[in-house]
Amino acid sequence: MNALLTVLTLLAASLALVLGLPPLRRTLLTRGLFATYRKVLPQMSDTERDALHAGTVWWEGELFRGNPDWGKLLAYPRPVLSAAEQAFLDREVNEACRLVEDWNVTHERQDLSPQAWQYLKDKGFLGMIIPRRYGGLEFSAFAHSQVVTRLSTRSSALAVSVMVPNSLGPAELLLHYGTEAQKEHYLPRLARGQEIPAFALTSPWAGSDAAAIPDYAIVCRGPWEGREVLGMRVTWDKRYITLAPVCTLLGLAFRLFDPDGLLGGDTDLGITCALVPRDTPGVDIGRRHFPLNAMFMNGPTRGRDVFMPLDFIIGGPKMAGQGWRMLMECLAAGRSISLPSSNTGMAQATVRAVGGYARVRSQFKTAVGRFEGVEEALTRMGAYTYLMDATRRMTAGAVDLGEKPSVVSAIAKYHVTERARQVVNDGMDVVGGKGICLGPSNFLGRAYQQMPISITVEGANILTRSLIIFGQGALRCHPYLLAEMEAAQNPDPRRGLADFDRALWSHAAYTVRHGVRALWLGLTGSHFVAVGAAVAPEARRYYQQLTRFSAAFSFLSDISLLVLGGSVKRREKLSARLGDILSEMYLMSAALKRYEDDGRPQADAPLLHWALWDTMYKAQQAFDGVIANFPNRFIGRFLHRSIFPWGHPYVVPSDELGHQAARLLIEPSATRDRLTAETYLPPGDEEPVGAIEQALAATLAAEPIEARVRDAERQGRFAGDPQANVRDIAQAAFAAGIIDAAEYEILRRRNALRDQVVRVDDFPFDLGRAAAGNPGRREAA
Ligand SMILES: Cc1cc2nc3c(=O)[nH]c(=O)nc-3n(C[C@H](O)[C@H](O)[C@H](O)COP(=O)(O)OP(=O)(O)OC[C@H]3O[C@@H](n4cnc5c(N)ncnc54)[C@H](O)[C@@H]3O)c2cc1C
Repeated sequence: MNALLTVLTLLAASLALVLGLPPLRRTLLTRGLFATYRKVLPQMSDTERDALHAGTVWWEGELFRGNPDWGKLLAYPRPVLSAAEQAFLDREVNEACRLVEDWNVTHERQDLSPQAWQYLKDKGFLGMIIPRRYGGLEFSAFAHSQVVTRLSTRSSALAVSVMVPNSLGPAELLLHYGTEAQKEHYLPRLARGQEIPAFALTSPWAGSDAAAIPDYAIVCRGPWEGREVLGMRVTWDKRYITLAPVCTLLGLAFRLFDPDGLLGGDTDLGITCALVPRDTPGVDIGRRHFPLNAMFMNGPTRGRDVFMPLDFIIGGPKMAGQGWRMLMECLAAGRSISLPSSNTGMAQATVRAVGGYARVRSQFKTAVGRFEGVEEALTRMGAYTYLMDATRRMTAGAVDLGEKPSVVSAIAKYHVTERARQVVNDGMDVVGGKGICLGPSNFLGRAYQQMPISITVEGANILTRSLIIFGQGALRCHPYLLAEMEAAQNPDPRRGLADFDRALWSHAAYTVRHGVRALWLGLTGSHFVAVGAAVAPEARRYYQQLTRFSAAFSFLSDISLLVLGGSVKRREKLSARLGDILSEMYLMSAALKRYEDDGRPQADAPLLHWALWDTMYKAQQAFDGVIANFPNRFIGRFLHRSIFPWGHPYVVPSDELGHQAARLLIEPSATRDRLTAETYLPPGDEEPVGAIEQALAATLAAEPIEARVRDAERQGRFAGDPQANVRDIAQAAFAAGIIDAAEYEILRRRNALRDQVVRVDDFPFDLGRAAAGNPGRREAA
């Protein structure tokens, strides 16, 4: 026994000696590991490297590294609008909404009206991101997000037509990389709407794998405006390009080749971005796609051997081959704003209208919003919208802080659009047939139809979840991983070994530290975590739980990377679940920050609590999904014991909490107004959403009177009266003297508005199809 103890002590002492003496450690341990690591490290293409290095790491880095500093989160400034931005939102944005009526756009006109287009151009909607010195509005990212959110509550065609010129496209690329001459020429024209931009990257053969575009250009000499100049012959075939059919300025991505060495560099220069005026001879543009009944302009563009000068390259000839880097660097800002904002807008409008409808519409003599089954859907809608809006605000706020948050923008894009899909689906279930029959009275069917567009664009969701969020997040946020990879690729092996040694052993200590913390926080239920910031007492436990999630996630992701190595890229199901944990933590942070930023309104607390319990439960499921499918069963069991030593602590939010949250949607309150703050509410009762607002107020006024009428009905006072039916009972009650004239008037008004709200449209037999007749063209094979 003594001998064994001596041997073990000697072994431990030797290991401590080796680890404590870097030269010895490097020779005895690191050298072998370094050689193996270099062999198994997957090769990275230039485009992958550009994507990886693009953008910045922000709050997600804190969550990734296991011990978030809550003081830092709460110190990020609360996003606010300037007086000019607020005035624009109140005046110009509301007016733009007033000018657009969705049925007219989608069914009768198939485009925005000329007046609406002109208004958008005149008022600078297409140049919100362009600095004032070029004639743009120079809005903050938050203001940009507010505008898109509100427009989306009215019409997708309106929102997308504004969103695209302000997102990744010519203006953004010009601002960052354009030559002075290009900026001076194009930016004022874009700001005034004299140019309508589009940006064409996607091809029939390269969608998600956009770096593989086959579109190409050959550097050559050619005639241009009466002279021979150095230029390029460009061949492209693009599809799905938003605004292409109406654009005047086409941003184009292609691969540039210089076979004759006219530029004096490589033959294959790589992806290049150019700005091509629509009237350039050979540009084929103008037909449109028909994306799920959405009426924003979207279509193909083609060109074969179209000659253009090298000056068309954004940034001029020196930026030849830099296109992919440019796109990746600019992607984060646009992706942080466009889809998160438009989808939050859609959710806000859905919650506002469906919540009201659920109180106005009654079945079984009860407002449908009071049935527990419907309540479940309403709760989800409200809490998700709270979470989505919090995420959109915090992410836009990051852009205003100068961040280009590439991982966060992917999280926001994926999770806001997925939750919006759920909100709209739930809304459709609640309104039933009313949502299904299209027509001017339908306020939800179009959103339901168009939801898959958000899921697909700006990084299709399956790819974003499976490949990007953790794949990029791990490398960007991890304190040592990238350093290890770079060390392994260092052409100087001595320097590489030294850097690798430092990163590797710091990494090992980091993993052990988080393993121990994860176990400790699991054993103690995170009760002893010092939050380190002044937070609302009712939310304090969430910060502690989130710290626990963060430590456990750091440990789990490190062990996963250790076991899976480079194959994590192919193990998409595991990578997706790891990304889910990081994402749910980000969403929770955003909700907690929103609650503080809003001044801790107690009335909103049910939405916060439900959203956070739901999020924690989902994060726990994602942990389970990784652990249960861990390739090594023994390590899987070890991870389970370390992270959940007492089993699963997180459960679905309670029904009582759900009931409190659902109530907030079906009656007017400050909370309902805050939750749906950007919803454009048309005045009067002509349009369905305006009618619901009025019908809701009328329903609340009528409910106590109706309760008396129902009592009388139960007492049998209407026996044999054919008018005592769901439609006409108010009249019967008045006739029987149960209610007086004033009360009857209240019920009568409620009935009129209710009937207007539940009405659906009907059409002539051929739905007007006889007048149409422009068959689609199939893509050339
Ligand atoms: C309405 C609309 C507007 C658009 N606007 C523009 C525009 O203005 N400019 C422009 O250039 N493009 C635009 N696009 C293109 C859009 O960005 C692409 O549709 C998108 O990149 C996906 O490409 P794809 O549709 O060819 O799908 P595919 O690439 O064929 O993908 C099919 C499925 O496979 C999944 N997938 C692919 N690779 C992986 C992977 N490695 N791991 C996991 N899953 C994967 C995807 O998530 C998707 O679910 C638009 C598209 C639409 C529909």
